[in-house]
Amino acid sequence: MSTSARSIVIVGAGQAGVQAASALRAEGYGGAIHLLGDEPGLPYQRPPLSKSYLSGNLAVEELHLETAAWFDEQRVERWGDTHVEAIERRLKRVKLSSGKTLDYDHLILATGARNRPLTALSEPVHGVISLRAVADAAALASKLRASRRVVVIGAGFLGLEVASIAIAQGCDVHVVESADRLMRRAISVEMSEASLRHHRAAGVAFSLNAGVDGFCTEDGGVRAVKLADGSRIEADLVLVAIGVVPNSELGLACGLDIYNGVIVDEQLRTTDHSISAIGDCAAFPYAFDGGDQLRLESVQNAVDQACYVARRIAGAADASPYDQVPVFWSDQGGMRLQMAGVARRLDASVLRGDPASGAFSVFRYRYDRLTAVESFNRPADHMAARRLLQRRISPSRAQAADLTFDLKSLLAAAVTA
Ligand code: FAD
Repeated sequence: MSTSARSIVIVGAGQAGVQAASALRAEGYGGAIHLLGDEPGLPYQRPPLSKSYLSGNLAVEELHLETAAWFDEQRVERWGDTHVEAIERRLKRVKLSSGKTLDYDHLILATGARNRPLTALSEPVHGVISLRAVADAAALASKLRASRRVVVIGAGFLGLEVASIAIAQGCDVHVVESADRLMRRAISVEMSEASLRHHRAAGVAFSLNAGVDGFCTEDGGVRAVKLADGSRIEADLVLVAIGVVPNSELGLACGLDIYNGVIVDEQLRTTDHSISAIGDCAAFPYAFDGGDQLRLESVQNAVDQACYVARRIAGAADASPYDQVPVFWSDQGGMRLQMAGVARRLDASVLRGDPASGAFSVFRYRYDRLTAVESFNRPADHMAARRLLQRRISPSRAQAADLTFDLKSLLAAAVTA
């Protein structure tokens, strides 16, 4: 272990921040680690908030990333309920909401993201809520039990996961989306269409290409969502799920480069090399796509970037660029959607399996190069795709489309070649 850092400060005690602390210890870093987070309680994982925790199948303790004892044993000093107000780069210290300051040799920004606000919601309306933190999920779970008509604004992963739970609990569910298809930002047309069929079959109604103009209220609570075309959708609960914005204000205020997140280089360092940024808040060069800047919102990204930075700081790693294949999953009422890689909108699609069968994959190509694979209830394709993408192996389009072709054979062939 060759680092000169004696004190590492991590801002943000979410998935990335906790993983960074854990990985630093695993890499043999023996100095001080301060983990600062502005949420109360033990750090927790977010994915179950729109899945098993929301449906009542997971207790709150099971969300915790680590126990209180673990932080003590690992000598990770956890500062809960602590907002970092500023970074004083010249003095290498952070300023806390309490007025205290804390010195660092290396600073890791893991500040995550927050929900994008809905412009049509100029002031809070009772019954119109969003979901990011565990308290939001607890409130949503209890409101779902008391609601009959639920409107979800935004047909992204989170909105559709909640829609599938609400419909399973017997609510009438209507999803309003401004784009022409589901999860447009992240998946192919073919997968969007399959997902639409899946949710419609479960009873979810959709308004696509629909803008939200405002809300009708009665006795202080929401009664309907007003759409831009003048129509109304009755509702006693509305979830706003229209994406997130990165928490990059700390970096901006201290002069780091910011563009859709804190800009980092291929080693996840900001323009100030004693500050790294990881997870949802970081925009990094995507090695698979010619180094174009990319910001991801996923557990795999948070965890892998945290481990990479810990290895780099602890001095155990060579300085090879960060190049993990992005992976994401979403559970939507009997539909497990898994993605590996990142496609651009115009990348060609090759189907593996029949979408009508309820299990198929979409292989995405730019010319002859595989860029991403989306799988709908086909976990074996997903596992093979991760390994193929990591090793930059592209099956031909004919091989991808042929269900009898064993994708793993390409991996074996590459080893023996
Ligand atoms: P976060 O987990 O957001 O943690 C950042 C922390 O920093 C927060 O606690 C924040 O309050 C704190 N912070 C910010 N600014 C400051 C400051 N100035 N001072 C102190 N603290 C600060 N990903 C998947 O891969 N699969 C899924 O199925 C999936 N489902 C999801 C479901 C939900 C409901 C949500 C909300 C997210 C889901 N995600 C999923 C995304 C995944 O949870 C995030 O990508 C991941 O949590 C990112 O980790 P992070 O540490 O970068 O950010």
